[in-house]
Amino acid sequence: MTLIVQKYGGTSVGTVERIKRVAARIKRCREQGQDIIVVVSAMSGETNRLLGLSNEITTRPIPRELDVLLSTGEQVTIALLCMALHEQGCVARSYTGSQVHIRTDSAFNKARILEIDEQKVRSDIAQGRVVVVAGFQGVDQDGNITTLGRGGSDTTAVALAAALKADECQIYTDVDGVYTTDPRVVPQARRLDRITFEEMLEMASLGSKVLQIRAVEFAGKYDVPLRVLSSFEEGKGTLITKEEQQDMERAVISGIAFNRDEAKLTILGVPDQPGVAHQIVGPIGNANIELDMIIQNVGADGTTDFTFTVHRNDYQKALDILRKLADDLGAREVEGDDKIAKISLVGVGMRSHAGIASTMFKALAEEGINIRMISTSEIKISVVVDDKYLELGVRALHSAFQLE
Ligand code: ADP
Ligand code: ASP
Ligand code: MG
Repeated sequence: MTLIVQKYGGTSVGTVERIKRVAARIKRCREQGQDIIVVVSAMSGETNRLLGLSNEITTRPIPRELDVLLSTGEQVTIALLCMALHEQGCVARSYTGSQVHIRTDSAFNKARILEIDEQKVRSDIAQGRVVVVAGFQGVDQDGNITTLGRGGSDTTAVALAAALKADECQIYTDVDGVYTTDPRVVPQARRLDRITFEEMLEMASLGSKVLQIRAVEFAGKYDVPLRVLSSFEEGKGTLITKEEQQDMERAVISGIAFNRDEAKLTILGVPDQPGVAHQIVGPIGNANIELDMIIQNVGADGTTDFTFTVHRNDYQKALDILRKLADDLGAREVEGDDKIAKISLVGVGMRSHAGIASTMFKALAEEGINIRMISTSEIKISVVVDDKYLELGVRALHSAFQLE
């Protein structure tokens, strides 16, 4: 028998009708002789609704209590799905994260899975049941409920697939695979048959929210065959695989990712001397703010400018820290901009191709889009632009690299 983990996202279980359709699909797979473990998200909009409730009480909820609240969304769907499966004559049992011992650390709101005790799941499967597990949640060593960060049901599915050595982990969603870029922004985007873990990880990290970053990390680390498919139509979807050496015709660029969640800060005219970068970055890190891109200019007149990006939610906090630092360091000025966006080209084929950056910059220039920051790695080039140009920029690049 093949063992498949299937994960259904919020839209796929967004209504009772859709939950019934998911049950019918699972039943068909059972009839084809597959053993199935199902992971579900909360019904679409539910996690946001719960967040809204907590926001009405406080803007700084106690992280432990927020997880108790947010984890309820998934508990609703596991029960409804099992009822639907029973109605269709399919034996199934639902479990919360703690019931199947999805043990995490205690980092509430963004916990990491440490281990899964697969015995209970195995014994249900052996007795011919479909096992339905609540995504996005776990339990720490003291029995506290934890959640895995937004989009975390993907990670629950991959972790279960790794623990049970499943033949495939299938992520069912509202698109029929991974596309060259978000099809909501570029309707001409093309579905990819395959993409490497490395590229998918880069796409996810740079803003493509089709898969949670940690799910891709996990799948790569434990070599879990991962597939993204539509829950509304049949198809092969996109397989995420290891890089194949002999793949001579591999595309140079596999996709374009973008991110509207960043903000940019600059401290101008800081004394150009050893230790300055540390003096700036240290207090930002101490405030638990993550830095993304960092640029330091060539010094002139004994001073230099230092620019970096942070998550937009941390913008005000970072600006306050910089203003205070500017006084201490004798810097001239602090500037900030939270209306920026980052666009990134991703592709392992880039390694062996020159001229990618020049084509990219030319395409943006032809649209009159000013580039504010640039950063590169072996398999990606990112630029920061004004956020009003995001869509135009993504479309221009999609067509310049002929990704249609
Ligand atoms: P789910 O609720 O099923 O987890 P998500 O909303 O998390 O679904 O992810 C699916 C969405 O990801 C799609 O609707 C699409 O708009 C978006 N997306 C962003 N980038 C891509 C991409 N490169 N390929 C496919 N979908 C993408
Ligand atoms: N329900 C959670 C969220 O909306 C987890 C998930 O859907 O993967 O982020
Ligand atoms: Mg998702």
